Amino acid sequence: MTIRKEVEAILAHLGVPATTGNLTVRTPITGEVIAQIATITPEAANKAIAQAHAAYLEWRNVPAPKRGELIRLLGEELRTNLEPLGRLVTIETGKLLSEGHGEVQEMIDICTYAAGLSRQLAGLTVPSERAKHRMMETWHPLGVVGIISAFNFPVAVWSWNAALALVSGDAVVWKPSEKTPLTALATQAIFERAAKKFGGVPTGLATLLIGDAKVGEQLVDSPLIPLVSATGSTAMGRAVAPKLAARFAKAILELGGNNAAIVAPTADLDLTLRAIAFSAMGTAGQRCTTLRRLIVHADVYDKLIPQLKKVYGSVVIGDPGAQGTLVGPLIDERSYNAMQKSLEEARTSGAAVTGGDRVPTTNDEAFYVRPALVEIGSQTDTVKRETFAPILYVLKYSDFADALALHNDVPQGLSSSIFTMNLREAELFLSATGSDCGIANVNIGTSGAEIGGAFGGEKETGGGRESGSDAWKQYMRRATNTINYGTDLPLAQGVSFDID
Ligand code: NAD
Repeated sequence: MTIRKEVEAILAHLGVPATTGNLTVRTPITGEVIAQIATITPEAANKAIAQAHAAYLEWRNVPAPKRGELIRLLGEELRTNLEPLGRLVTIETGKLLSEGHGEVQEMIDICTYAAGLSRQLAGLTVPSERAKHRMMETWHPLGVVGIISAFNFPVAVWSWNAALALVSGDAVVWKPSEKTPLTALATQAIFERAAKKFGGVPTGLATLLIGDAKVGEQLVDSPLIPLVSATGSTAMGRAVAPKLAARFAKAILELGGNNAAIVAPTADLDLTLRAIAFSAMGTAGQRCTTLRRLIVHADVYDKLIPQLKKVYGSVVIGDPGAQGTLVGPLIDERSYNAMQKSLEEARTSGAAVTGGDRVPTTNDEAFYVRPALVEIGSQTDTVKRETFAPILYVLKYSDFADALALHNDVPQGLSSSIFTMNLREAELFLSATGSDCGIANVNIGTSGAEIGGAFGGEKETGGGRESGSDAWKQYMRRATNTINYGTDLPLAQGVSFDID
């Protein structure tokens, strides 16, 4: 069966009606066209946003634990469809089958989390300084949440946002990446089945808009959308952030990373090697948390780097659906060209490049590469830029303070790791003067976060937080309430204002 036929079968199984249209969808596995689908017009998008707003006005009246029931049902539908949706993720993004399945598992996990959360959207009660007064915080639904997502986590990012937003009493409007619209259509069909089992939800509660960046801009510009959660490149964030700020809308920005790990002299090198391999080469270097910089102590450099080169030389590259493959394709030719450009720049600055070459396949339109290990003397501009491909820049250090300084000397601040058995170094790395990233790990790689923790980064990574912890608060608005149950009217701070 061709991949196109397989896609048609999966979509039919998941309940996505066959469509045709002007958006060409390709699989990076072979580069072949797997679908032609319709995009939304600006007028229809505006109508859909208005419909979502009307849905929110109804949905906010549904008690939060009942809203949680919808998300529980969504989790159940996803469980039932883990296999086909996971396979579709693999076909559309080129990530390994276990990662495609893992992405759907992540959706299920956030649904479980959000269903529980729906009974815990609690505010504080705060002691009032005034007698017979009670002060408390109440969390209310916010409105329509706009979700703009990237190609590399085509459905998990929607679920991180949608599960929390929907239990919070919001409606969601989703603009997925134009490179991965089929998994979005499949997810929407799955949501609609859950909504039906729930007994129906207001029309437009979860809306999908297929289109390019222009549709994303409509979400950003719409006065009916008080929060936009945008995941993608820093360039996208730079375009989106000022527009949201200009209309005082809230933003969750999940942008590019340039993640590093420090390997200290006491590191458990076997564990370190395995962690680096997954973080740097996994998902063909196309995770926002991919390990891109390795800062290795001089004492272990000559032991670790030859071992790493061996792994880089032998890792199996090919069809992400095949047993044994560890590195699948890049998303497209643009990505391949960006990788080659960065490698060329590194070579020009004197770096020694191992790997990085294209791995030939029978199809010219598929872009498989051997991951590249780049030994480089200093942190050049090329190293400081995120290239969304499997390039690992390796730097040597002797002094821990220098390693930390190198670590933080990039514009991005998403994920970071240290490999050490030295408690002082580990704690320092996690302290206020250590890693400046939103995620800082010890003896574990930079990628592969769990949904229970708040996910996001600092600096040019945008400052947003999604998923667990108290990230839900961004999807709600907070009201501080003070109730006087006495007969006097004392003013705060002892202010007097007697009118008789
Ligand atoms: P991209 O920036 O090209 O596109 C992301 C999304 O933004 C797409 O849906 C696109 O249509 C939309 N978009 C682009 N310009 C826009 C604009 N001006 N207004 C509104 N919408 C716009 O990113 P990509 O190539 O799909 O994904 C890779 C990038 O995403 C990498 O930089 C990666 O680090 C980042 N990423 C970050 C996270 C995170 O959580 N920090 C997660 C995944 C991916």
